Amino acid sequence: MNIHKLKKFLEESNQPKFRLEQIKKAVYQDGVSDFSEITNIPKDLREKLREEMNILSFTAQNISGAEDKRSVKALLKLRDGNLIETVLISPKLGDWSVCISSQAGCPLGCAFCATGRGGFKRNLTAEEITDQVLFWKQYLNKNSSVALSCHDYVTSSPEYGRGGKLNNIVFMGMGEPFLNWENVEQSLKTLIDPELFGFGSRAISVSTAGLPEGIEKLAAEFPQINLALSLHFPTDESRNEFMPINKKYNLEDLRNALRKYFLKCNRKVFIEYILLENINDSREDADNLIKYLKSIGKLQLLHVNLIRYNATSDEMKSSDSGVTRELKDYLSRSGISVTIRKSLGSDIQGACGQLAGTRRR
Ligand code: SF4
Repeated sequence: MNIHKLKKFLEESNQPKFRLEQIKKAVYQDGVSDFSEITNIPKDLREKLREEMNILSFTAQNISGAEDKRSVKALLKLRDGNLIETVLISPKLGDWSVCISSQAGCPLGCAFCATGRGGFKRNLTAEEITDQVLFWKQYLNKNSSVALSCHDYVTSSPEYGRGGKLNNIVFMGMGEPFLNWENVEQSLKTLIDPELFGFGSRAISVSTAGLPEGIEKLAAEFPQINLALSLHFPTDESRNEFMPINKKYNLEDLRNALRKYFLKCNRKVFIEYILLENINDSREDADNLIKYLKSIGKLQLLHVNLIRYNATSDEMKSSDSGVTRELKDYLSRSGISVTIRKSLGSDIQGACGQLAGTRRR
């Protein structure tokens, strides 16, 4: 929702100051999806708001739920016709996370990523970024009391059913957040503003493919927000091949950026490592990864997430579960803090690396 437009509209309509607070609470905290639901403001104001404003800056084109009832993906159409995707995930009972996009498409072209293969359309506005969170708030709100036709899988599941709370936001959808810093910065301010969404900084994570100046800005302005680095390959040679951004900012640049980050924040950084069969899952790859992580100098502040690859092309497949476990144990024995991250939503193309902004289901 465009809060500036709302303020201006209320001022021009000579509304008392507390109206803004009432509407902000209803939209950002309670998750109403229509101004007509805000029953503590006058009826004529509700009607005028409906004529003048939209709560969301896009419309949902498609919503699909995964078989396991633990993730839901939405395809959203922006006002200019561009499409983006966002995913609601339940890593544990009653706990929901939202994975949001920061760009329509992505210019970085990582070889394993469906978004990258689709090319870049444009940066999202701050409003379009935070509206994805509003969208899922509304969704959870509706599904906590009413069973809507296409949303039934949430209410129909006794396990992942009513009463779930939206607790975490991850910037891991379409796009590279640090290439759209101005709008991402504004959206982070909105997300942590106690008068708007009111999320704690530690409930938010920003993931980058490796832009040092972005890491620096995040550390300077939002030192409590989590940083995730999509490393995925442990040598410049392999990273250059699969992640073209490495030709601009190589592993040494990232090492320096992380060292600066630790000087400023001294907080844990999550190292994302997607496992691709016979590409980056050998013992030699593990040794190179260990060597690289140790060279950064703050091993206790690095945590590796090993991620099963969700196939988006025929040319690459995920390492099998045996190799994944072996790799994890090997890293652990070498003093690396590591987990295998559960991959949710692969059957709806809503898992890591699968978002493409197209209707595929
Ligand atoms: S993995 Fe991230 S940075 Fe790379 S192309 Fe996909 S969205 Fe862009």
